[in-house]
Amino acid sequence: MTTTAPKNPKALQVLLVDDNPIQLSLLRHLFQRHGHMTIEARNGAEALIVLATDFPDVVVSDCVMPLLDGYQFCRLVKDDRATRHLPVLLLTAQGTGLARFWAKTCGADRFLVKGRDLDHVVEVAAALAEQSSKPRTAHAVPRLAQENFGVDAIQSRLAQALEQRLLETALRDSVARLYTADHDTPRLIQGFVEILQELVLPGALLVAYLGQEGVWCHGVHGSSVSTEDRQSLEQSLTKQGPFPIPPSCHWHPAADDDERRRSLRDPVLRVYTATTPGYPPVGALAFITERRASDDFERLFEIAAEELGRLLSLEDSRLRLYHQAIRDPLTGLYNRKHILDMLGMEIDQCGRFGQNLSIMLLDLDHFKAVNDRFGHAAGDQVLSVLAQRMSFGLRKVDQLGRIGGEEFLAYCPQTELEGARALAERLREYVAIDPIPTLPPGDRVTLSIGLATWEGPEDTPERLLSRADKALYQAKAEGRNRVIG
Ligand code: GH3
Ligand code: MG
Ligand code: MG
Repeated sequence: MTTTAPKNPKALQVLLVDDNPIQLSLLRHLFQRHGHMTIEARNGAEALIVLATDFPDVVVSDCVMPLLDGYQFCRLVKDDRATRHLPVLLLTAQGTGLARFWAKTCGADRFLVKGRDLDHVVEVAAALAEQSSKPRTAHAVPRLAQENFGVDAIQSRLAQALEQRLLETALRDSVARLYTADHDTPRLIQGFVEILQELVLPGALLVAYLGQEGVWCHGVHGSSVSTEDRQSLEQSLTKQGPFPIPPSCHWHPAADDDERRRSLRDPVLRVYTATTPGYPPVGALAFITERRASDDFERLFEIAAEELGRLLSLEDSRLRLYHQAIRDPLTGLYNRKHILDMLGMEIDQCGRFGQNLSIMLLDLDHFKAVNDRFGHAAGDQVLSVLAQRMSFGLRKVDQLGRIGGEEFLAYCPQTELEGARALAERLREYVAIDPIPTLPPGDRVTLSIGLATWEGPEDTPERLLSRADKALYQAKAEGRNRVIG
């Protein structure tokens, strides 16, 4: 091991790992020329020994070396909490293929191709050291240093590191699979909770997320977790999470019988925020578990929070896109295509179960005059106010969409013509009774409605719509502001 005095005010301590003495001296020369200090090791195992006592700012390592190669070394460094944040730059012989794949999957921060990129090695290593978020504290001793440095110890640590990596990959994979299997937010979250619950039981796990209708939260708990424990979990999530959670969380007891008999010996409570780069925080997870489990699974919980962020952001994008695809932007009602699709499906159901169905075509009266008198923007506002009134005036089971400029379609399941007529009359009065905020108080906008009812399996949506259209035409011809059908 060689060390030189620094000339550079930003001098770094660089750990160089290479089995080739010529390559090693070349690297030493490059770094020292820029005023950096170097420590050297001839393979991964030696490098681990160095890390037990020295605290370099960055590691520059060869890949193919005897005893412990660069990938294995890097995996062990990244697997250990004490050294995880130490940046590792790998030097590969080839720029493509497996070398590149392994360099990426073993957790290396960067890799450069020997010969081709060597001019930049100092610059890149310095940049990595600068970006490194958490410098290693002098107290953090690598796990391997606490054992011995025999081949067995190294091999067993390596096996553990690989197993950990496999677990992490399996966790990411299970969460990703959820997304491809299900497109319903509460079910997605439930699936996520099911995957994670084994890690916290007999404790409790709570997941909160920001959905379209506000904050939701789902939790699972072991029988030894009391109501007070659950409340403190909810409170911690509100305090430390990205948003306050509502008083009603959906809690489920864990189904595992074996778990019921156990209780927590040394419980800890942890909160993780779920974020995706470029998105506002979308969720959080909190748990109570055994202190040991929390330490052992720390990395898995971090990954889980990351995956939750990804899952929720994807779900949010999907819902937004879906909303855009089926809604009319001005009124927020279903658009023409969607309401017609829904009507088609409803008619199929009626055929199968022999149920009634009536439809209404609704058209605003003399709407062109509104635009002409008050301008198009005022017309838009009137449209949106009246659309709201219409959907308010219908029943929950009825569905309403905007099928044209000032034309709307509603369908009423399990409703005969008589019932539809009464409903339409009420709606017609309700829509016109109150003044419209953007118009002079005396101005009312009225509605003409044409009705039709489904006549059985021989009937088609086209014919049904055509009958309603004729009725609407008649309503207009007879003086408007009326229901015909
Ligand atoms: P009628 O009683 O016969 O239905 O008369 P009307 O004026 O309502 O019907 P017409 O079909 O002659 O004109 C419809 C008007 O609706 C014309 C158009 O400018 C207006 N309109 C359609 N879509 C929109 C819209 O999105 N915003 C606004 N402001 N006006 C719209
Ligand atoms: Mg009209
Ligand atoms: Mg019209």
